[in-house]
Amino acid sequence: MVEKIQQITVLGATGSIGSSTLSVIEQHSERYKVFALTANTRVDDLLSLCLKFKPAYAVVASEAAALKLQAQLVDTQVLHGAEGLDFVAAHPQVDMVMAAIVGAAGLAPTLAGVKAGKKILLANKEALVMTGALFMQEVKKSGAILLPIDSEHNAIFQSLPANYQQGLQQIGVRRILLTASGGPFRQRDPDTFSDITPEQACKHPNWSMGRKISVDSATLMNKGLELIEACWLFDAKPSQIEVVVHPQSVIHSMVDYVDGSVLAQLGNPDMRTPIAQAMAWPQRITSGVQPLDIFQIARFDFYQPDEQVFPCLRLARKAFELGGTAPAVLNAANEIAVAAFLDEKISFTQIPQLIDAVLQQVSIAQADSLAAVLQADKQARDAAHQWLMEY
Ligand code: NAD
Ligand code: MG
Repeated sequence: MVEKIQQITVLGATGSIGSSTLSVIEQHSERYKVFALTANTRVDDLLSLCLKFKPAYAVVASEAAALKLQAQLVDTQVLHGAEGLDFVAAHPQVDMVMAAIVGAAGLAPTLAGVKAGKKILLANKEALVMTGALFMQEVKKSGAILLPIDSEHNAIFQSLPANYQQGLQQIGVRRILLTASGGPFRQRDPDTFSDITPEQACKHPNWSMGRKISVDSATLMNKGLELIEACWLFDAKPSQIEVVVHPQSVIHSMVDYVDGSVLAQLGNPDMRTPIAQAMAWPQRITSGVQPLDIFQIARFDFYQPDEQVFPCLRLARKAFELGGTAPAVLNAANEIAVAAFLDEKISFTQIPQLIDAVLQQVSIAQADSLAAVLQADKQARDAAHQWLMEY
């Protein structure tokens, strides 16, 4: 049977996940067609991508940038701003949305795709962390298919049976083992953490990623955000998820069942594997990733994370347990802290200090509407900027 070609919107096309997605699409042009590509400021990169993939739409941040880009494109209509992003995420012709904008900026268009009932390939974990219950309710309501791209969550998804939505207890899961590389500073003397530079923090031992998530991996906030992400995706309690430091980053996570079986997904650390898995699911396609050479890896190590040295993991757990808008506050404070660290305004060790201060200061409300979440996000950003002026 000849299947209909799938139309994809790639939100955040100029980023690390965006380019891995386009690499998989390129290898399967008979199955997938790019419907829309979006970028924030890297308009020149977006122009090259539009010339190559000829999407129906492109979206950039400002009207001025959109006019400039439109002047150079014939086959593509250029839109701008939040409305443009929502439009290409929810367009009737779109089958799949790759949600790969970094941070809270990705929330609105990802939710627009969810509400339109699309197949959502979720890389933008911050969107789910911020709105958790609301996001999952919208998925249920619209019938959207939510597939995790984050390598750990994609591994967990692959290690669970198809009926996992019945509940972890029902399907005999004892716990989820969420693996972490430990980041570039796993073995560094904590007394020297305040000397860490942005370049050192962005140099991840196993993965090549955008700068924000690279810093999150170095502080272990990434694992904290992923713990929250896993709780929502798999309807788990934090006590059912164990974080395991596995420096080789070959096992991407595991599921431990009541009969003693532990299922894992392994592979080389290349995001094209989870992207191809989600794009083709429930089928399998090639991704361009090198086959795993198990003899070359030779050994797997596992350690417990040190939450004293890496307080961000503890802060994320605390925010999830506080509930309501606390995870949105945590996320916003983290975004401001990471940007300040990358701008060399604060030290590496001040990242958790800022987040802790903001979590204590901003009052937590119920996260029962998007407006409540966005208000918490704004209050947390204001409090974080205040902290930066005063410290
Ligand atoms: P990146 O910085 O490389 O790319 C981010 C993309 O988002 C770019 O295309 C940029 O133009 C766009 N963007 C940024 N700010 C925007 C704004 N305000 N409005 C509109 N677009 C904006 O980031 P990345 O590493 O590709 O990560 C993207 C998302 O995927 C993040 O949420 C990250 O946590 C998640 N993720 C990434 C990886 C990875 O290997 N890179 C792995 C797992 C999850
Ligand atoms: Mg991950």
